Amino acid sequence: MSTAKAYATQSATSPLAPFTLERRAVGPKDVEIELAYCGICHSDIHMARGEWGNSTYPMVPGHEMVGRVTKVGAEVKGFKPGDLAGVGCLVDSCRTCGPCGHHQEQFCEQGAAFSYNSTEMDRVTPTFGGYSSSVVVDEAFTLRIPSNLDLAAAAPLLCAGITTYSPLHHWKVGKGSKVGIVGLGGLGHMAVKIASAMGAEVTMLSTSKAKEADAKKLGAHAFGLTSDPETFKTLRGRFDFILDTISAPHDYNAYLGLLGLDGAMVVVGVPPAPTPVAAMSLIGGRKTLAGSLIGGIQETQAMLDFCGKHGITSEIELIPVQKVNEAYERMMKNDVRYRFVLDLKTL
Ligand code: NAP
Ligand code: ZN
Ligand code: ZN
Repeated sequence: MSTAKAYATQSATSPLAPFTLERRAVGPKDVEIELAYCGICHSDIHMARGEWGNSTYPMVPGHEMVGRVTKVGAEVKGFKPGDLAGVGCLVDSCRTCGPCGHHQEQFCEQGAAFSYNSTEMDRVTPTFGGYSSSVVVDEAFTLRIPSNLDLAAAAPLLCAGITTYSPLHHWKVGKGSKVGIVGLGGLGHMAVKIASAMGAEVTMLSTSKAKEADAKKLGAHAFGLTSDPETFKTLRGRFDFILDTISAPHDYNAYLGLLGLDGAMVVVGVPPAPTPVAAMSLIGGRKTLAGSLIGGIQETQAMLDFCGKHGITSEIELIPVQKVNEAYERMMKNDVRYRFVLDLKTL
């Protein structure tokens, strides 16, 4: 066992505060990582504040972890001390069910072990996330970080990167695809970069006029202001594929109207309350409304390698861990350009 410094919340209404936790002893297949940086995902806020009704406390959030390997177990083959390594939302799964057999551990039939607000596969031991100085993870759930990427700016790839790469890849977005990305936050800005690197024609659909210039710098070819109802008329039927990253309740029907024939809209944003969808929004134009959850480990590595090849990282504001509560408040006010990353040296 080893002791790690961390930041935790004790209830849905308490702020995050210093906390000490024990990491397990490094087993034969384990990798111990000294964490350098951890991104702040909006899911951290949803779960810390109990907005999805599945929260357990104390909770150490954080699933965009990067750092250097400090120790490996005797059977570990792919990592050695000193290597760069990352951990995302998944730390284990049953490894035998259908989805696990198809490298889709996020959909494990027994329920994957998530990095925090979850348990190990023994269903007893709680997991604690990346707002901490170290982590111990099975090699099978440890990712390699391309060495050409800035390490702090690569952290958000572990969730925001894979959550947007996976549906873009699954729905075969590529050259010639007309893609709308909804919501320019942590996920949205990664989606713009990745979709444009895949060759798609990308339109940013945002409620924030002030983000238009940034959207274009990130790689968007066009910008639609969704706080203006006219936008839904001018862009009607325009897209083959829409990726919806909005964290708050909003009307899916309005965005479905922007899809053309056989178009698909995939929601990755998880508003805390359900939204009604009219059958009529789907019937005309034979449209698909789907969801997507992060991505499997093999696909996460493929995304990291893709980002390494294309030099893609996140636009970040690096902050000391003591500012985490302030960062949550700023994210709720839509004041993030475009991902907060915690500098874990400050723990
Ligand atoms: P974020 O950085 O806070 O960005 C959310 C964006 O949504 C904002 O930048 C804003 O974009 C837009 N938005 C916020 N409130 C809105 C409102 N009331 N109406 C319309 N648009 C609004 O959040 P994030 O970290 O990217 O996460 C986004 C969502 O994805 C969260 O719900 C998170 O839990 C979820 N998520 C899901 C998965 C998955 O596997 N499915 C993985 C990670 C995160 P504009 O200013 O451009 O309008
Ligand atoms: Zn996340
Ligand atoms: Zn499984």
